[in-house]
Amino acid sequence: DLGSDVEVDAEVAEDVDEDDLLGGLKIDSTSEIDVPDRLVDQVIGQEHARDVVMKAAKQRRHVMMIGSPGTGKSMLAKAMSELLPPEELQDVLVYHNPDDGNNPKVRTVPAGKGEQIVEAHKEEARKRNQMRSFLMWIIIAIVIGYSFIIAGQILLGILAAGVIYLAFRYGSRGGDAMVPNLIVNNAETTTAPFEDATGAHAGALLGDVRHDPFQSGGMETPSHDRVEPGAIHKANKGVLFIDEINTLDIRSQQHLMTAIQEGEFHITGQSERSSGAMVQTEPVPTDFIMIAAGNLDAMENMHPALRSRIKGYGYEVYMDDTIEDTPEMRRKYARFVAQEVAKDGRLPEYSAEAIEEVILEARRRAGRKGHLTLKLRNLGGLVRVAGDIARSEDADFVTRDHVLQAKGRSRSIEQQLADDYIERRKDYELQVSEGYEVGRVNGLAVMGEDSGIMLPVMAEVTPSQGPGEVIATGQLKEMAQESVSNVSAIIKKFSDENISEMDIHIQFVQAGQQGVDGDSASITVATAVISALEDMGVDQSLAMTGSLSVRGDVLPVGGVTHKIEAAAKSGCDRVIIPAANLQDVMIEEEYEEMVEIIPVSHISEVLDIALEGEPEKDSLVDRLKSITGSALSQGESV
Ligand code: ADP
Repeated sequence: DLGSDVEVDAEVAEDVDEDDLLGGLKIDSTSEIDVPDRLVDQVIGQEHARDVVMKAAKQRRHVMMIGSPGTGKSMLAKAMSELLPPEELQDVLVYHNPDDGNNPKVRTVPAGKGEQIVEAHKEEARKRNQMRSFLMWIIIAIVIGYSFIIAGQILLGILAAGVIYLAFRYGSRGGDAMVPNLIVNNAETTTAPFEDATGAHAGALLGDVRHDPFQSGGMETPSHDRVEPGAIHKANKGVLFIDEINTLDIRSQQHLMTAIQEGEFHITGQSERSSGAMVQTEPVPTDFIMIAAGNLDAMENMHPALRSRIKGYGYEVYMDDTIEDTPEMRRKYARFVAQEVAKDGRLPEYSAEAIEEVILEARRRAGRKGHLTLKLRNLGGLVRVAGDIARSEDADFVTRDHVLQAKGRSRSIEQQLADDYIERRKDYELQVSEGYEVGRVNGLAVMGEDSGIMLPVMAEVTPSQGPGEVIATGQLKEMAQESVSNVSAIIKKFSDENISEMDIHIQFVQAGQQGVDGDSASITVATAVISALEDMGVDQSLAMTGSLSVRGDVLPVGGVTHKIEAAAKSGCDRVIIPAANLQDVMIEEEYEEMVEIIPVSHISEVLDIALEGEPEKDSLVDRLKSITGSALSQGESV
């Protein structure tokens, strides 16, 4: 077995209860779980990426990894370096070139040899210097002796001695210059190198030659001594990892490409006006395996030639965000907690019920029924925060309560902002969560990745002077127009009002710059517009999210769990979500009592729930049902 197929090394019950949070592990704490030695065996999930990495390590291929942050990209890259044969490692030396001082020579030797060579050169230089000093003092003695005794010229003697002294000192610098500069030293390295060049500037990536402020007069540092290796050189025979590859400047991407293609790259000064820019070494080996990483955007923005080079000589893999929640996987998550405790080194062990709480949180964060989140950097953050709380209390074990406290503390910036935002809006009474209002609907939006906010939408309909227009505020204009055009297709069929002769004003009350995902507000916009058009009040104790099709179907949206929690926090009693999202709901217990969740699949249901005024509403809903219902069945029969 390899990698994450490795079973968890701890006692497991004979017949495992499917629902057991620890997947049948019979343990009291993480101390009873063995952490695998190899990094590759510690990787949870990501089976596909892991297989690719193993294959790529064998074949020495490059890999492009696309996926969310904190899902194990750099972990896998590092694991790969542990799988490469270390016996191939090399040291790299840079020598003074007597023919051209600005073109230092480069020599590659087996790992460990570099230090020996430098030592030998130093020893030789020491001997030579001793020899020179010895010679120098003899000559000085002779000169002084001669001037004193034979010529009687004391001053001239001392002067001559000084000149001889300086000549020797100056000359001896040439001797030092012969000692090579060991820029890559693998003497102590036991596995192939792993270099993380994420966000590296050109010099750190490609190597550099330091500027020399004293460029002449015997004070200068010889150019070969100023040469510094880049990550591409240090990664020779190992792995070069670059996350957010698209943020690398184009020039660096081009040089990187050359290094990949040639397997070697000379070092030169990176800042144009420095004396280092005049220096260029012979090529230095860059025989690395490249692991480029990023999110989907990264792929679009990276240099197409670089991407095709990686693709042509390697693999592309997508990282999973979640994994199926099985007893076996939960045992792995228990081991994950043990791994993070071991990695930190200062945390108390986790009690069984604290592990269970972490696993519950992994479920919740997955945002998908029957899955666990693989955004394990963040989950590891929770493990550390809870551990720190336990440590500060001098507790022997991390308990369930510590984990619960940590969950409160390790909220993301967005969550903290969202809470603050909800509080402030309550102060200003911008939040309405009771009574009925015409044209106003409590929508819901996601802020960042893991927090929701209530985002009221207001609509007003006025007769237009010219052709009707949709007037919306700010950056949400496009999406407002789109949902209005969807809803107007529906309205046209049942309403006497000619919507094309109306101006529809839509306002998102206090929508900040935070990424409001427009699409998920389209049933909200539709409800607000219909309410305004028909002059019927909307229940303000209700919040809603959902996307709308032209036929009136309510389509699934993202982030329902966070949205429902935001609705509850804002004081709403009921929340409408797309029926298709029901399986994604994983709200925390405290909110379960606070709101009723109403799944819907058609806009007529939304209006039935949201609008007031029985007889009028019923007729509206009936009309809507009859019209869009027939459209719906036609659609289905196709
Ligand atoms: P990425 O490079 O995808 O942003 P990292 O590899 O740097 O993420 O992950 C950060 C940390 O999170 C790792 O050091 C490890 O502790 C934990 N981690 C992330 N993904 C996994 C995984 N699939 N299995 C085990 N631990 C993981």
